[in-house]
Amino acid sequence: MATTATAKSRTAKMMVGGKWITSAKGHTRDIINPANEEIIAETFDASPLEVNQAVAAAKKAFESGAWSGKSPAERAGLLLKWSSLIEEHLAELAALESANTGKPMKLAKDGDIPFAVDNLRFFAGGCRLLEGAASSEYSAGYTSLLRREPVGPVALIAPWNYPMMMAAWKLGPALAAGNTAVIKPSELTPLTTLEMARLALEAGIPEGVINVLTGAEETGRLLTSHPDIRMISFTGDTETGKKIMTQAAPSVKKLHFELGGKAPFVVFEDADIAAAVQGAVVGAFVNCGQDCTAATRLYVQEGALKKFSEAFLREVGKIRVGDPSKPETDMGPLVCSEQRDRVEGFLQRAKTAKILAGGGRPKSLKKGFYMEPTVVQGAAQDSELVQREIFGPVVCLLPFKDEGEAVALANDVPYGLAGSVWTKDVHKAFRVSSALRFGTVWINDHLPLCSEMPHGGFKQSGSGKDMSKYALEEYTVAKHVMIETTGAARKPWHYSVFGDPS
Ligand code: NAD
Repeated sequence: MATTATAKSRTAKMMVGGKWITSAKGHTRDIINPANEEIIAETFDASPLEVNQAVAAAKKAFESGAWSGKSPAERAGLLLKWSSLIEEHLAELAALESANTGKPMKLAKDGDIPFAVDNLRFFAGGCRLLEGAASSEYSAGYTSLLRREPVGPVALIAPWNYPMMMAAWKLGPALAAGNTAVIKPSELTPLTTLEMARLALEAGIPEGVINVLTGAEETGRLLTSHPDIRMISFTGDTETGKKIMTQAAPSVKKLHFELGGKAPFVVFEDADIAAAVQGAVVGAFVNCGQDCTAATRLYVQEGALKKFSEAFLREVGKIRVGDPSKPETDMGPLVCSEQRDRVEGFLQRAKTAKILAGGGRPKSLKKGFYMEPTVVQGAAQDSELVQREIFGPVVCLLPFKDEGEAVALANDVPYGLAGSVWTKDVHKAFRVSSALRFGTVWINDHLPLCSEMPHGGFKQSGSGKDMSKYALEEYTVAKHVMIETTGAARKPWHYSVFGDPS
């Protein structure tokens, strides 16, 4: 595979209308490997000219019917071929994803990318399942049909924590529903999204159906305020989501938002404590805690707190932090130095909290944006450590007395993306899972997702669902077609507004 970022050829161009382009303004940006701080590629920041070109290419591909005019079986076939090409190149893509994000190779190779492939395959099947219901006579003399139509050219804005997975979660349903897309990956991690676009062309997905722009906030702002974009699907920070809402307002675009999270992890005294400890280690520190569903608030019932925290600290001490390319590494660096500074800032400002483990940078690692897995106790419920998304390897250990208090504390954040409850009591598990105001609630586990089920938040974690048939529907608009079936010149309802002439 010809990669966009190699030691020899380090310039990663953007893809617009099936062509690789640079920026007219020539603004470039270095892409850094967060594990060793080396520059691995140079990208362009799309200027208004390229944003206009990309949207025009997506619009042209949409209006020509080159994609939406294909039969569902044809679209499904192309998406399947694309997913197979991604699978064929899994090893190179995993290495590129790991080098660009700092995530351990094993997470990219055995987790993120196979899941992205599975997601694309699910949506390939989805092409053929999208249906409008046909039904008759909601009003006498009329038959109503419901059509599910693509929205138009959509803007897809992705974050840096799971670049390939986020691209698949967005492009999969958008394309399955017949839309065309302009995707803007994060300015920090654009490399694998560009490779995905290259493979999509190779699979035979027509030019202009997938366009990739690189760049940061300004490129995103131009794209999300472009009048020809009909829908925005955004995954990222809640504050960015608020800005995008205002950018989208003048042309009243459809919005799909997957925003931040602050997941509670509620452990009752009757839980399998060993299982809960393992779940908490993975839930809190996977992807260096840069996960919107990360278990960031460990609420443990008072009677189990000592046993849980001793075992938890022991297991946290075993996490192997280091070079993400090594197969044994459990936790790599944070994505960039600014993100590490941000996470450290939370710890520096936390006056009352006590750091039980970590809190600093690993002394043995001289290069890279590493941080130790960090466990904090004694943070107040209303402190920023407990209320705000940290997005790093920091977890708060918090006590609770009873079920009522556990539910109240767990729900007491502005977010509502995901949470978990740990207990052997099936009645309590059901009661608590229904009382938690989060889009996903796990019972006796934390983190696993599947392509068939929706993922998305309540409250300030967003609106809309990724994955599942619900995502597919979100990338469509419902159209009511109403057919007059009597053939009469004067329709039945005319009599009610103009009276009966006889
Ligand atoms: P971010 O909001 O800083 O950036 C996300 C994307 O938005 C980037 O591509 C960025 O360039 C772009 N952007 C920034 N300002 C913009 C603007 N004004 N208009 C248009 N685009 C703009 O988020 P991030 O730091 O890249 O990612 C971390 C965040 O993503 C966390 O808050 C995390 O919880 C969230 N996230 C949520 C989910 C979910 O499913 N809910 C999944 C992954 C990540």
